[in-house]
Amino acid sequence: MVDTKVTVYGAYWCPDCRRAKKFLGEQFVPYHWVDIEQDKDGEIVVLEKNQGKRIIPTIVFEDGTFLVEPTNAELAKKLGLTTEAKKTYYDLIIIGGGPAGLTAAIYASREGADTLLIERAGLGGQAGITVGLDNFPGFPEGVSGQEFSERVTQQAKRFGVEILQAVDVERLEMEEGYHEVYTSDGKHYHSRAILLATGASYRRLEVPGEDDYIGAGIHFCATCDGPFYKGAKEIVVIGGGNSAVEEGLHLTNFTEKVTLLVRGDKLTASQIAIDKVNQPGSHVEVKYNVIVDAFEGQDSKLKTIKYHYKDNDTMEEIHPAAAFIFIGQMPNTTFVKEYVEVDRYGFILSGHDLVHDDHMHKNGVLPFETSIPGIFVAGDARYGSTKQVASAVGEGAAASISIREFLRKMG
Ligand SMILES: Cc1cc2nc3c(=O)[nH]c(=O)nc-3n(C[C@H](O)[C@H](O)[C@H](O)COP(=O)(O)OP(=O)(O)OC[C@H]3O[C@@H](n4cnc5c(N)ncnc54)[C@H](O)[C@@H]3O)c2cc1C
Repeated sequence: MVDTKVTVYGAYWCPDCRRAKKFLGEQFVPYHWVDIEQDKDGEIVVLEKNQGKRIIPTIVFEDGTFLVEPTNAELAKKLGLTTEAKKTYYDLIIIGGGPAGLTAAIYASREGADTLLIERAGLGGQAGITVGLDNFPGFPEGVSGQEFSERVTQQAKRFGVEILQAVDVERLEMEEGYHEVYTSDGKHYHSRAILLATGASYRRLEVPGEDDYIGAGIHFCATCDGPFYKGAKEIVVIGGGNSAVEEGLHLTNFTEKVTLLVRGDKLTASQIAIDKVNQPGSHVEVKYNVIVDAFEGQDSKLKTIKYHYKDNDTMEEIHPAAAFIFIGQMPNTTFVKEYVEVDRYGFILSGHDLVHDDHMHKNGVLPFETSIPGIFVAGDARYGSTKQVASAVGEGAAASISIREFLRKMG
């Protein structure tokens, strides 16, 4: 986790500003956003830094230094992230630095395996953006997702795990008995075993306007972006499951009212969360059987959500300060779904869920091993996983034991 204070000067219509904000958000870097269209002092800062030119994004760091229109690689360098590995050969390469990947890294490295972990965004994965973990054993008062992620990362580093951040794995191949891991920065690394711990991502509504206002009124993380709306009259949350209800309740800390737009005719969250929504004075209103049709904006910022009810075609509108979308997740497996066996949603099959191929797995398939010998999977990306931090941690540990067995047999 990077501890720095950053101010991003930009404008809502600027795609490069959105990219830079997205990058900082993914790295869990807290930043102030100044829209120079609205803020004259902000515009003056930009003009001063750029010899009278209005170039955005201009990003000013805590130490007073600044970057103008930086690429993601330049931002990563400035934030002190390690993006290049020390070596090219490893016993184990772990792809994904969420709870599953970090736990497997602790186990493997502690037992002496030369381990490289590659993470494209912020360490901690989905757990890192969770407001509070109340159900992880050992924390009777709960723990913030951020603190949890920092602790696990520190532990992995203590055992010597090499960690790359802001590096996306794009492709896997096999060459002369070694797995080859190709990354977005044009590099590639070799390993004897691989763990896929790439988790899952937020599902989108795929309706008109959604892409246009991401980061400009449409969000997927209440912890990251909720505070921007402190004092707002109304925030809309789309979805009716656990994430939607819990994050909606969290957003009542910032806004007078949260309106939940639910596609179904009931909430499917835990009973505790539903009771909190229904209790008097919860500041949450629920509209059921709602189909969202479109997002519209003004001055490049979300202004309107258009929707209709399932049994009635009449279009209605709502004008919240922001919309947070929590409608489920999809596995981050696009880069391997042609390589290892996956189910129809892209979740990776392993162990006894595979149709066994004795030719491929000469010694039988190990638990958490995929259709390719030596490639393992753990956590939310795995078919059959239970999508919880505790189970991702457990799978990371269990997969590392299988990997140890695999490496031992390889000799
Ligand atoms: C809002 C929210 C609230 C939640 N609340 C709780 C809770 O209270 N309790 C609980 O137990 N669980 C909760 N969960 C679920 C829990 O966070 C997940 O089940 C858990 O984080 C899964 O861990 P993972 O390591 O499998 O995957 P993830 O946490 O998804 O981590 C996977 C990592 O892999 C990285 N990655 C993906 N593809 C690539 C690639 N190609 N190259 C490099 N890196 C890549 C991703 O950036 C990510 O950091 C919550 C989830 C969300 C979203």
